[in-house]
Amino acid sequence: MKSERVPGICVADPDADCDNCSLKDRLLCRFEKTFANKFLLGNITYRVLATAIAFVVGFHTDQWWMVPFYVGFVLLTFLIVEPRLLCSHCPYYAKEGRTLQCWGLRGMPKLWKFHPEPASTSEKRAMLIFGGIIDITPLAFSLYGFYVLVLDWLTGSVDYIILTTLGGLTLIFLLVAASFDKMLRGGTCKICTNFSCTMNKVPEDLRKEFLEKNPTMKEAWDNA
Ligand code: SF4
Ligand code: SF4
Repeated sequence: MKSERVPGICVADPDADCDNCSLKDRLLCRFEKTFANKFLLGNITYRVLATAIAFVVGFHTDQWWMVPFYVGFVLLTFLIVEPRLLCSHCPYYAKEGRTLQCWGLRGMPKLWKFHPEPASTSEKRAMLIFGGIIDITPLAFSLYGFYVLVLDWLTGSVDYIILTTLGGLTLIFLLVAASFDKMLRGGTCKICTNFSCTMNKVPEDLRKEFLEKNPTMKEAWDNA
């Protein structure tokens, strides 16, 4: 079902007077296609590398559940769980339309209603668990793969193709994860308009200024 635009949220308002706004260029409150594409590319690269690690380790150890588990968990998180626990509290969610139009999970379906109030402690904890699983599991798969390779080496039968492939994939994965982390914690999290996210680092004065311009959210935050 197509959701209507929520009133009192400037991020969702195509007619908002952004050119004369004191927050212009100080928050990530307007959709920027170039940045959104960069984030999408980084996210896809991260998930493809993670799935490749799960495949190589699963192939070598006969643990074939790794790929369907990882892919299924990513789909569950990005399609259903994260939009509810995190995005439904974000002003971008107040936009009109069936899917998210923002720099992060652009294109994901909006199955939930908008929640202008801050996320609850249990929502934040659940989000940390889901986020932790999809972000850290690939490293656990990789470590398990190296552990099995060490056992192979001790019995004198190491598969060097698997060793090189897993080593290369893990190295590239770590580099992508580091650059993603730098992009988020080093910049984006300091200007992101979802103040409910546990990673959000927007200073208090900017938050207040933003909420003043968004009465629907301000009222919900004041009453929370
Ligand atoms: S805070 Fe609202 S009005 Fe100001 S620049 Fe951002 S989206 Fe536009
Ligand atoms: S929290 Fe991030 S991914 Fe979710 S709607 Fe807001 S900007 Fe998009």
